[in-house]
Amino acid sequence: MRTPTGLERFGVVAPTIVREPARDDQDIPICAECGYPVAKSKGPHRVEKPQLVDDNLADALEYLVTYGWRCDRHAADVVMPSHASGPDAPGMIDGWIGVQLRFADEHVRYVPIPEREVADVE
Ligand SMILES: [Zn+2]
Repeated sequence: MRTPTGLERFGVVAPTIVREPARDDQDIPICAECGYPVAKSKGPHRVEKPQLVDDNLADALEYLVTYGWRCDRHAADVVMPSHASGPDAPGMIDGWIGVQLRFADEHVRYVPIPEREVADVE
């Protein structure tokens, strides 16, 4: 685990940088920012202050949990969500849905999040 740095020590959480997953020439998942191998990080990760497209979701969620990879070698976490092709997140585990999230490159993509996280959101 990393130690808190910068503003985090004062309870201010840096927004997570969300990037598309990248792979090296041997098809190993790597960090889209620094190229570090991140295969072992596959699993659920928190995205702080997500740039959600849906206003109701944006108001309701200070963070979300998505499924994918994470690199912790940066001042702010870099999370690379696995691909969800639409709202039903076909191919994902039961109980996960796709929501539209704006990535660091300003493109909007569907990312998987647990359905229960948004169950209370109108
Ligand atoms: Zn990195």
